[in-house]
Amino acid sequence: MNNDTVALQSEVEQLRAQLEEAKRQIAELNQRNTSLQATKAAPDSGIEATPLDEMEMTLRRLVQRIAMILQAEKTVWMLYERESGELVAMPPAYGVDEETIRSLRVRATQGISGQVFREGRPQIFLDAVRDPRTIKENVAYYNIYNGVTVPLIVEKRDEQNRVVDRQTIGVLHVWNKRHGEEFNDEDVRLLERLASSLAAVITNMRIYQEVVEERKELLQTIESLYAGLVLVSAEGRITQMNSSARQIFNVQGDVSGKRFDEVFHHEGAVEMFRRGLATLKGSEAEEFGAGAELTFSEDGHERIFQVQSAPVRNEDGKPIGIVAIFNDFTDIRNIERMKSSFVATVSHELRTPLTAIKGFISTLLMDDAGFEESERREFYGIIDQECDRLTRLINDLLNIARIEAGESLKPHYTDVDIKELAQKVVMIQRQATSRHKLYLEAPEQMDTIIGDEDKLDQVITNLLSNAIKYSPNGGDIRVKLEDLGDKVRLSVSDQGMGIPKEHLGKVFEKFHRVDNRDNRKVYGTGLGLFLVKHLVEVLHQGKIWAESEVGVGSTFIFEIPKKLKLEEIEDAHPA
Ligand code: ADP
Repeated sequence: MNNDTVALQSEVEQLRAQLEEAKRQIAELNQRNTSLQATKAAPDSGIEATPLDEMEMTLRRLVQRIAMILQAEKTVWMLYERESGELVAMPPAYGVDEETIRSLRVRATQGISGQVFREGRPQIFLDAVRDPRTIKENVAYYNIYNGVTVPLIVEKRDEQNRVVDRQTIGVLHVWNKRHGEEFNDEDVRLLERLASSLAAVITNMRIYQEVVEERKELLQTIESLYAGLVLVSAEGRITQMNSSARQIFNVQGDVSGKRFDEVFHHEGAVEMFRRGLATLKGSEAEEFGAGAELTFSEDGHERIFQVQSAPVRNEDGKPIGIVAIFNDFTDIRNIERMKSSFVATVSHELRTPLTAIKGFISTLLMDDAGFEESERREFYGIIDQECDRLTRLINDLLNIARIEAGESLKPHYTDVDIKELAQKVVMIQRQATSRHKLYLEAPEQMDTIIGDEDKLDQVITNLLSNAIKYSPNGGDIRVKLEDLGDKVRLSVSDQGMGIPKEHLGKVFEKFHRVDNRDNRKVYGTGLGLFLVKHLVEVLHQGKIWAESEVGVGSTFIFEIPKKLKLEEIEDAHPA
C-alpha cells in the first residue's frame, strides 16, 4: 500500500465515524419526533427542517469528498425510480450544476448506469467517447471522457452483523480523473466502500423524510377530524388542539404550550382534565378512560358533547399526558328527546279516541231504559268519527314509515277539479268548528289539473284543520285559490297563535312541534306537515312554505304544476 492509499483509507474511516454520528442523531430525532412532546410543533413551523438540512449537508460533504478522494472532476449519483423504470440523478452532485443534474434520467436497461444497476457490479470505462456501452448524448452533454460506476447497495444486518437483505437502490458515478490520468482497480474498490456509506446516508434520509411525512399526515388528519381532539401533557400544558376543539372552546390561534385551565373557560372540562391528570400520578391511570357528557353554550344554543379521554403513554408505558375526544351528541340527544315526546303524544292521541269509543259503547251496552233513537244515532256518529281519527293517525304513522324506508307513497293520478275539491274540504271543515269563519276565494273559471285527488284532499284538510287547531280563540280562516298559468297556488290563512320565526322552516320536519305554552295545549304528533310536504313536493312536484307572525296568524302556501312530469315520478299510475 502506498502512502496515498493509507491517507485515503484514514479519510474513509473518518467519514464512517461522521456517518455513525449522523445516524445516531437521526435515531434520536426520530424518537423525539414520535413522542408527545414533538406534537407541540405546528405542522408547518419548519422545526423539522433542521435535521433534514443537516443530513443534506452530510450528503453534500460526502459527495464532494468522493470526488476529492477519487481525484475526479465530477460525482453524480442516481436512484432507481420504480414507477418509470428509470435511474434518476439526484442532487447534490459535484462538478455538475444542480439544475442540469435534475434532468439526467436513464432507462435501467440502457448505458453503463443500467448495466451496473442490473448486474450489481462496478464498471470502469477508459474512453467514454468510443466505449460502445456509453450513451453518447450524455457523454457529450456532460463532457465525460472516463469514469467508474458502482452500484448503491443497502444492506440490512442482524445482531451478529450478518447480511440478511441486500437491495440495489441506484448507482454512483465518478467522471474524469484529474491530471489526465486513468481510473484503476484500486479506485473501483475505494469507490465501492464510499458507495456503501453514501447508500446508508441516503437510506437514513429517506426514512427520516418518511417519518416527517407520516407525522405531517397524522397532524393533518387530527386537524381535519370532525371530532374535537385535545392533548394535555402530564404537566397540564396543551400540546395539541385541533380546529374542531378550538371551535368548541372558542379559542383563536395557537395555544400549544399554554396551561389547559387558562385556555378552557368551561368548568366541567377543566374539572375533567384536572381529575384525569391527578389519576396519571396514581395507580388508577389504568382505569382512567372514562366518558363524560359536557354541555357547551354557543350564541344561546346548547351543544352536548360526549367526551372520551384516556392516558397517553410513552414507549415504556409511562403515562405522559391525556388525550380527550369530543363528539357532538346534540342531534342524537335531540332525537332521543323528540322520540320520547313523540311516544307520549302518540299514546295520548291513541288513547283519547279509544277512551271515547269505549265510553260510548259501554253506555250503549248498559242501555236498560232505552235511549232515544236520535241519541243513539249521535253516539254512533261520535264512535264513527273517533274510529276515523284513529285510522288517520295509524295511516299517518304507516305513511311515515314508508317514506322513511325510501318508498314513495303510491299515487293514483287523474284529472282533478281543484276548485271543487277545495270547496268540498272547506264545507266539511266548517262543520268541525263553530268558532271560526271559513272563506273560500277562487277564480270563476279554473282548469282541472293532473293529481292524486285523495292526497290533495289530505293536504288541504290538514292545512285547514291546523288553521282551526292553532287558532283556539277562533277568527277568520281564508282559503285562496289562484291560477298562475302553468301552476295553481292554494293558501290557507288564519288569525291564530302564529309560528315563531326560528320554527318556520322546521314545522315541516318530522315530529317537529313548536314548544311553547299556547301550543302545548293543542295536541298533535308533529307528523301532519311532514306528510303534507312529501305529498306536495314529491308526489306533485310542487313546493310548500309558511309565513307567519306570532300573535297575528299564519299562512301556509303551496304551488303545484297543472301538468305533472309523470316520467319523473317512480311508481306513477296515470289514469
Ligand atoms: P301537529 O299539528 O300534529 O303537531 P303538524 O306537522 O301538522 O303536526 O304541525 C307541526 C307544528 O307546526 C305544530 O305542532 C304547530 O306547532 C305548528 N303549526 C302548524 N300549523 C300551524 C298554524 N296554522 N298556526 C300555528 N302553528 C302551526
